[in-house]
Amino acid sequence: MTEISRRAIMAAAGGAMVASSAAAQSAAPVPQRGSKDADNRVGADILGPRNPARAAEEPFTLAPPATDHGTMPNLKWSFSDSHMRLEEGGWARQTTIRELPVSKAMAGVNMRLKAGVVREMHWHKEAEWAYMIKGKARITAVDQDGRTFADDVGEGDLWYFPGGTPHSIQGLAADGVDGCEFLLVFDDGAFSEDSTFLLTDWLAHTPTDILAKNFGLPESAFAKIPRKELYIFPGPTPGPLSADKMGGAGEIPKKFSHRMLAQEPIRTRGGSVRITDSTVFPASVTIAAALVEVEPGGLRELHWHPNGDEWQYYLSGQGRMTVFGSESKARTFDYQAGDVGYVPFAMGHYIENTGDTTLTFLEMFKSPRYADISLTQWLALTPHPLVRAHTGLDPKQIDALSAAKAPVVPG
Ligand code: MN
Ligand code: MN
Repeated sequence: MTEISRRAIMAAAGGAMVASSAAAQSAAPVPQRGSKDADNRVGADILGPRNPARAAEEPFTLAPPATDHGTMPNLKWSFSDSHMRLEEGGWARQTTIRELPVSKAMAGVNMRLKAGVVREMHWHKEAEWAYMIKGKARITAVDQDGRTFADDVGEGDLWYFPGGTPHSIQGLAADGVDGCEFLLVFDDGAFSEDSTFLLTDWLAHTPTDILAKNFGLPESAFAKIPRKELYIFPGPTPGPLSADKMGGAGEIPKKFSHRMLAQEPIRTRGGSVRITDSTVFPASVTIAAALVEVEPGGLRELHWHPNGDEWQYYLSGQGRMTVFGSESKARTFDYQAGDVGYVPFAMGHYIENTGDTTLTFLEMFKSPRYADISLTQWLALTPHPLVRAHTGLDPKQIDALSAAKAPVVPG
C-alpha cells in the first residue's frame, strides 16, 4: 500500500487520527473498533462537540469491545463529579444512590479533616465502615450500655460504628501529615452525609428550658449553643489517646477499629488480597471488605459474589472491568484512582490492571462474611467431560485448571 492510499484510508476512517502521534491518539480516542482495514472497522469519528480529556479516561466506553452487548446500568462514578461540601479545615463529598442509581445497597463518603478539625459528634441510622486513606484521626464512640471507645487510626486502618451509635472523628497531626482523608461506606445506598443526627442541630432545636431541666443546669448555661450546625469545624487540640479513654461502664468489647494492613495478605503470582470481615473484625457485622492489589497486566480473576452487591473504591492505578449481567448483557468500564465501581448481586466480572503501576482497590459488601465464587475453581471441580462439552477445551487443558482459588492471576 502506498503512503498516499494508507493516508486516504486513515482519513476516511477517522480524520482526527491522521496526523497525530500514538500519545495524542490515546488522548483523543475515536469511537471506532477493528483493524485499519476500513472494511472491518465499525464506528466513525465524532463531528460534533467532544470532551477529549474525559473520553481518554474511558476508552472502552467510547469504543466498547465487541463482546459488550445489551443495556446495562451505569456502574461507574468518579468522586470528581460529586458535589464538594467545603467547611473550615475540611470537606466532604458523597457517592450515593443519587449519584449512582444502581447502588441501592451501599453509599460512600470521601472526607478530609485537617489536624484538629472535627467531624462533629453525631449518629445516623446506617452503620459506618471506614478506610483511612492518608494521615491519622482520633475516633470516639459510646454505646447503649455506657461503654466507651477511643482510638487513633492511621493509613490502612478501618473503623466500624453500628447504626445508631454516636461517634466523633478528629484529624491529627502525625508523621508530617496535616490531618487525614478517609473513605466511609454505609450499608444503605440512600444514606446522605447531610442527613446525620448532629449534636448541635438537636440542641438548637430543643427549647432552652427543656435543655436546662434535662441536664440539671441553669438556662443561662445554654446561651452559647451554636445557632447553626457545626458539622466540620476546628476543634480543641487533642491530648494523648490515654486521656481520651473515658472509662464509663468499660471498653466496648467488640473494638470499633481494625488494622487491615497488618493482616498477612493472600499472595498470588499476580498480586495480593486482604479480606476483612466479621471473622477477623468482629464489630463489622454488616460490611465485609477486601483490599486487592493487582500488578501490571494482572487480573482479578473471573468471579462473582453469592451474597450481595459489590461497592468498589479505586485507590491507585488503572483498571478495566467487564460486568456480565445474563441475557447476553455485558458492559466494560475503565476506572482510575478516586472512582467508584459497582457490581449488582451475582453478576460475573473481572478487573484487569491496564496501567503500568500497581492497581489497588477496595471491594465492599453488605454482609457479615466475604464470599466469592471463582469461575476457574468451578470448572476445575466439575466433572471434566461436562466442562469439555461446554467449552471445547482439551482434557489436558481442563486438567491444568487450578482447583485452588487464585483471586489475582498474573499478566
Ligand atoms: Mn458517622
Ligand atoms: Mn468482585
